[in-house]
Amino acid sequence: MELHPEALLVTAPSVALALYYVPRMYLDRALTGSEAAAASGIVLGLCGVCHSIWGAAPGYALGVVIIAAIGCLPYARRMLSRRDELAVAERELAEWRRTIAFDARNRGAYVYAAEALRNLGRYAEAVSLYERAMALGPRDPAVQRALEVTTQLKRASAGENWICATCRAENAARIRECFRCGAHLPLAGAAGSPVAAYGIVPLAALVVPASALGICGAISPSAMLLLCWLGALGVVVFYAIVSPASED
Ligand SMILES: [Zn+2]
Repeated sequence: MELHPEALLVTAPSVALALYYVPRMYLDRALTGSEAAAASGIVLGLCGVCHSIWGAAPGYALGVVIIAAIGCLPYARRMLSRRDELAVAERELAEWRRTIAFDARNRGAYVYAAEALRNLGRYAEAVSLYERAMALGPRDPAVQRALEVTTQLKRASAGENWICATCRAENAARIRECFRCGAHLPLAGAAGSPVAAYGIVPLAALVVPASALGICGAISPSAMLLLCWLGALGVVVFYAIVSPASED
């Protein structure tokens, strides 16, 4: 396979970024081992094909596809980061729902199902199950506390002000730590940062117009690929600076 210097501008950073992100996604458990191997294989395969057909329109188009796919990696890493944890919560929820179907007065099952729903970020449903658990027996301070916290999670995730369960101060929906006592609002994962889902926007905002301009010949293939890389860089910067995972 012949290596084209211009094609290397697509493939060398792509391989470097794939080598950075894919192992991290495996370690975060966002990807299973076989998915990580498949993702690496796809990137390497596409890069090889890109070199073999470089110099004509299909080669440039494949270059755009590769850059767009690489630009999606930081987004995918963020969006899939709690996949493992969410799968466990879904399994637990199904199990406790079966227990409730069998014994509708099983107070513990309502509490555990509510906890699973809370881990899934489904706060409104969690609140109603905590309320049913409260209605089924004597006052339990732990369940009462879980109900209070989950009610505030429901409020904050709906964009409403929330009340700190520790000091009772009212906080704005966008903040995640009580302004008075610093208590953390334990929102579940990505749901905690309302902007996290928009990391893909800079990529689309540059790749789509750059491809259109490239196809109609208004800009050179190099300029088109450079604009696409700027879009991919936008995604990397977005998750590193604008919406880091620790914000949740
Ligand atoms: Zn507080």
